[in-house]
Amino acid sequence: MALEYLKKATLTSTSDASNVHDLVVGILNDIEAGGDSKALEYAAKFDKYEGSVMLSPEEIEAACALVPAKLKRDIDFAHANVKKFAEAQKATLTDIEVEIVPGLLAGQKTIPVDAAGCYVPGGRYSHIASAVMTVTTAKVAGCSHIVACSPPRPGVGVAPAIVYAAHVCGADKIMAMGGVQGVAAMTFGLFGLPKANILVGPGNQFVAEAKRILFGRVGIDMFAGPTDSLVLADKTADPFIVATDLVSQAEHGYNSPVWLVTDDRALAEKVMELVPELIADLPKLNSENAAAAWRDYAEVILCADREEMAKTSDDYAPEHLTVQAEDLDWWLENLNCYGSLFLGEETTVSYGDKASGTNHVLPTSRAATYTGGLSVHKYMKIVTWQRATREGAKDVAIATARISRLEGMEGHARAADVRLAKYFPDETFD
Ligand code: NAD
Repeated sequence: MALEYLKKATLTSTSDASNVHDLVVGILNDIEAGGDSKALEYAAKFDKYEGSVMLSPEEIEAACALVPAKLKRDIDFAHANVKKFAEAQKATLTDIEVEIVPGLLAGQKTIPVDAAGCYVPGGRYSHIASAVMTVTTAKVAGCSHIVACSPPRPGVGVAPAIVYAAHVCGADKIMAMGGVQGVAAMTFGLFGLPKANILVGPGNQFVAEAKRILFGRVGIDMFAGPTDSLVLADKTADPFIVATDLVSQAEHGYNSPVWLVTDDRALAEKVMELVPELIADLPKLNSENAAAAWRDYAEVILCADREEMAKTSDDYAPEHLTVQAEDLDWWLENLNCYGSLFLGEETTVSYGDKASGTNHVLPTSRAATYTGGLSVHKYMKIVTWQRATREGAKDVAIATARISRLEGMEGHARAADVRLAKYFPDETFD
């Protein structure tokens, strides 16, 4: 049966017309040529900020003192959970050593990148959780230099709770600079920073475009577009919970798609009735974001059965995927494309976004067809090594010389020849 769209998006994230490429290239070039002072100019222009950029230990202490004790405990709790999950991920990265042929050993080891630049968004909302997600994971990976950078508010600087989170999670430096200028400062090594080897963390279209342009000279976690979420719900789902979860993710931004995929028409209709009411009940700014996202980007899709629901979900490859349906094991077994999966009504994307331990920096815009989200592995280089006895490498040398000559690579062939001649002077090889 063909899918039935009870609500269809009029826009998609790829039809968003805003072209920021040229603007971002211009800012990056300016800052690379002009250094610290140019970055400061852009901070003044875009964030109306002229305070100190690199927070001193005293400034960090003063900011932390402003954070209420209860919020500190919540941040500590989230940090402990994210750390525990990241440590378990790291344990899966074991070094290997294998004897390819007798006398020829090959191995693999993982080495953390030296300098990690963690972008913590702070334009619209203060993304405390992004500091926890990016800095904690870098710390567990073993990076030697971890910078957290976040946009300052005029006259205030970086939100104190972000400073606290970055500090307790292990940032070596905290920088009050946002947007393209923040990304540039970490990449070019401004304000006394080491040049970042990898840039991680979510951000708006300017931040995402800067990371995309700089990729190659610096590693990035992934290219992140607007956040997106899909809920799979059957007749057993509670429409009020489903609607609340959809609204919770539409709140991210005017262009954050949310999709409901179901095989129950009555559920779909009830959810579509509830969503506008729940949106209207949010604070003004959040409500405006969610209303625009629901109007232009949301979809409600009716499928024939759960097999078609699973296939549809894989086609959308959502960043966040929620299942509120019977037989959660079946869904875990059969779903293949998502950034993070939330099984059952008892959990929700908000838990993963803030505090349950899995990372919230996740692939958007169908990138889940080829990658997962931020993990310890993104900060680790998986490198290989080999060593051999003279006898152990003999057949490899013979094969290497022949393959190289056939390719026309005489220099490569001779690197094998000289060894064969030295170690086996009484033999001839052709
Ligand atoms: P942000 O920190 O990403 O961007 C703020 C910066 O943008 C400012 O410092 C400013 O320098 C720059 N800027 C603003 N207007 C500009 C302009 N016209 N030209 C050049 N630079 C400009 O904060 P934000 O804007 O609130 O965006 C946060 C983004 O992060 C959202 O899209 C949100 O959905 C996303 N996010 C995603 C996740 C996830 O895991 N997927 C988590 C948290 C946040």
